[in-house]
Amino acid sequence: MNPIDKLAEYFKQFPGIGERQSKRFVYFLLTKDKQYLESLSDAIMHVKDGVRICPLCQRFFSGPQEVCLFCTTAEDTTSLLIVEKDADLEAFRKSKTYNGFYFVLGGLVPILEKNPSEFLRLREMVKRVTDLKKTGLKEIVLAFSLTPSGTHTDEYIRNTLKNYIEGTDIKLVSLGRGLSTGTELEYSDADTIKYALRNRQ
Ligand SMILES: [Zn+2]
Repeated sequence: MNPIDKLAEYFKQFPGIGERQSKRFVYFLLTKDKQYLESLSDAIMHVKDGVRICPLCQRFFSGPQEVCLFCTTAEDTTSLLIVEKDADLEAFRKSKTYNGFYFVLGGLVPILEKNPSEFLRLREMVKRVTDLKKTGLKEIVLAFSLTPSGTHTDEYIRNTLKNYIEGTDIKLVSLGRGLSTGTELEYSDADTIKYALRNRQ
């Protein structure tokens, strides 16, 4: 395979990047000098240095602490918001309307998947909910994109968590109703997220 196609194959594996965009990236890089390419490959080589996964919310963060700052500085300790991925969590942080705990599931449940616990952090999620139950958790917000697999994940997680919150006064709410169909949280602006949070039910 020639170098152009070879590199394009890598970009094609990036989330949301298709054939045409991956080629655009390659042609962009071809216009750059050697120094740029070297700093880029260096940045890629070191992207994982000092980055770890928070044992509580499961997000990537860098720093010397064991637990991330979002978990240690959450103001509302009665609310837990569950998202698909780190980029969604960032959209919520940017909207500045939610100040509770977060949990990053690590993906969505594909509609035909029989055993999602193999690639999603379901065990960690249940543990987090069980722990927070003891410290006054009042609400769990399921915040998935309003796409077919997002809706399916909402139902799946609802069923999974039902057993663990039965007999408590913890409310299980979904963000979906404040969003329009097809909305991907990652690309939503602060106002859309504010609106969705206000209308959670
Ligand atoms: Zn954390």
